[in-house]
Parts: sequence; C-alpha cells; structure tokens
Amino acid sequence: METDYRDRLARIHAAGRYRELRRIDGPIDRWVTVDGRRALLLCSNNYLGLANHPALIEAAVQAAREWGVGSGASRLISGSLAPHVELEARLARMKGTDAALIFPSGYHANIGAVTALVGSGDAVFSDQLNHASLIDGCRLSGAEIHVYPHGNLEALREMLRAAPARRRLIVTDSVFSMDGDHAPLRGIFDLAAEHEAEVLVDEAHATGVFGASGSGLMEHLGLNEIPAVHVGTFGKALGCAGAFVAARDDVIRLLVNCARSFIYTTALPPPIVAAAGAALDLVAREPERRATLHRLSHTLRRRLLALGFEIPAGEGPIIPVIAGEAERALAWSAALLERSVFVQAIRPPTVPPGTSRLRVTLMATHTDDDLELAVEAFSGLRRDPAST
Ligand code: PMP
Repeated sequence: METDYRDRLARIHAAGRYRELRRIDGPIDRWVTVDGRRALLLCSNNYLGLANHPALIEAAVQAAREWGVGSGASRLISGSLAPHVELEARLARMKGTDAALIFPSGYHANIGAVTALVGSGDAVFSDQLNHASLIDGCRLSGAEIHVYPHGNLEALREMLRAAPARRRLIVTDSVFSMDGDHAPLRGIFDLAAEHEAEVLVDEAHATGVFGASGSGLMEHLGLNEIPAVHVGTFGKALGCAGAFVAARDDVIRLLVNCARSFIYTTALPPPIVAAAGAALDLVAREPERRATLHRLSHTLRRRLLALGFEIPAGEGPIIPVIAGEAERALAWSAALLERSVFVQAIRPPTVPPGTSRLRVTLMATHTDDDLELAVEAFSGLRRDPAST
C-alpha cells in the first residue's frame, strides 16, 4: 500500500500537479505572513475584507458567550438553535424566497441540494466549468448527467430537447469560480421555462459582491423574481464559513428530509452563524465596499492586460491570468512571492489541461499602493526570462 501511495504521489509530482499546504501566521488580511514571508494576499475569496473585521469577531465572541461554541448535533437530532432559524428567515427575505436552509459549507449545500432534487431516472444539465461541488452533487445523485459547453445556450437547448426525463434540473455557478465570468442566467431561465426545468444557481462568488443590495448576480440582472434554487456561501465575501440554500417552501422541506449533507452532519457553530449575520449587516450598510472592490478589480484587470497577459473577458474581483502549462503557473507564482505577492497557481484538475493560471483575486480593503506593488511584481514577470 505504502509504495502504491508513494508511486501515485510521484506521478502527481511528475505531472506538475503536486499540491502542498502553505503556512499562514496571523489572520487572513490584505497582507499575510506566508511560510514566514510578508506578502500581499491576492488569492483569497475574502472579497469584502471581512474575515478579520471587528464586527464579525465581536458577533462571534458574543454568540459564543450566549449560545456556546458547538451546536450539539445535526439540527434534526438535538434541535434547531434560534440563531440558525433567524438567519434563515433573513436569508429568505434577502433572496425573496419562501424559506432558506443553512448548510455547514457550500460543498455540503451543493451536493445536498442536487442529490435531494434529482435522482435515478432524472436528468441534470451542468455547465462544463461548474464548481467541483456541483459536479460531485450531479455524480452522487444518480441522475443522467448532461454537461453543456461553458455558457453555451444553444447546446443546452439541444440537450433539454433531447432528454426525455420527467424531472430536469439545470445547475450553474453564477460567477464561475476559476474564470470570474458570468453564466447567461437570463437565457438559462428562458430555456428552463420552455422545458419545465428547475434551475439551481450557485452564487458562491457573487454573494456580497454583485447586486444593488449585494445579494448576488440574480439581483444584479434583475432576476430575483424568477423562482429558483439559490445557493450562497458565507465563506467568501461574507468572511466566515457555511452556506445556505434559499428556495420555495417545498424545496426547503425536501432538503430537510432528503439532503444527506444536511441531515447527517453537525450544524454550523452558533458563533459562525452570528458572524454571518454581522457580515450581512455590513453588506447592507456599507455598499461602498462593493464599489471599491469593483473599482480596484477594473483597474487591476486593465493594467495586467496592458502588460500583455492573457486574461479572459469578465468583470469583478476574480482575474484569471492564464499561464498555460502547470510548470509555468508554478514558476510565476514563485517569482511573485519573491516580490512579496502571494498568488496561488491553479492547475488541473481544478482547471482544464493547458489553462493553468494565476487566479488573482482582490479585496475591498486593498489599497491603491497595494495595486501598484502587484502591477510592478507582474511586470517583473514579463522582464524576467527565467519565469516566462
Ligand atoms: N461553489 C463554488 C462556485 C465555489 O467556488 C465553492 C468554493 N470554492 C463552493 C461552492 C464551496 O463552498 P465552501 O467553500 O463553502 O464549501
């Protein structure tokens, strides 16, 4: 066994896909200490800079005092703590749905929702670049899986037409995690209405980032009135951890009864639920965070394009800088860290072969000086033949 494990690791290494954990000393903030070196953090999903915000910390501390640290068990076993119930009511109001249900993570939410909604004999339609948790949910569900080319409505239409299944579910990221581009949601909903399909929209990277009130891309596009199964997460722009599904009452009751990743897991700790609530307060009260984030993102995207880097079209804080081969992405990442900028290389299987990249992400709390430093570090990559 041991030699088999070592052989597998050696093969992962040889393919340039070996992953290692990097130690961070101190909280996640604009600057971090990574493997002992101070660096500008340009690869977190902490888009609004809330992970270390005093209001979230205070809310978590207060909740720990009042409610304790642990939630005791699954909510179907030892009961549903009031902070969970209240936050769910608030999330449902935010999304304009009947109800909402909190999950311990976005991964749990996606696998739980997909497997509860469809099963053997049903059909699920999934964008080629969907997040791994949606892909795994599709696989676990036992439904027939139809993967459509990224954002391709024509292909989706054909697949919907050809699949005779009684129950059909379309699943898509709203903002794609590794590319930062947007799903053609309006077109997807039109097709869903035509073919009587349900739509699950994963707003993990849009929650707190897009929409006038920060509720996501659905709001940004004026689609919140359309019935959908919404997934949002607390671990990215909201700075803590956990996730939710917001939907019609029948969907949420079905999840409580059938989503195994809800039923068979311990509920989110009360301090985290309280911190998520405090983050939602800030999202509502401080829209300038979103405005700053978008301004910084626009500027950095433009400056990196001007340096000649390949960056797919998109808007928002996820800026993928395409390197191509895994080795090149790793060399770029190492060279940037030498220049005090921390950006992780993203390689297959997270992204398709030949599209390894630096996934640059911004935070609302980054400063214009931080941006200058980042641009200078990236222009260094262009000058240094060893890293290109
Ligand atoms: N959906 C998408 C689109 C994601 O990018 C992620 C996390 N990277 C998740 C779901 C999972 O969320 P969590 O980290 O809360 O498990």
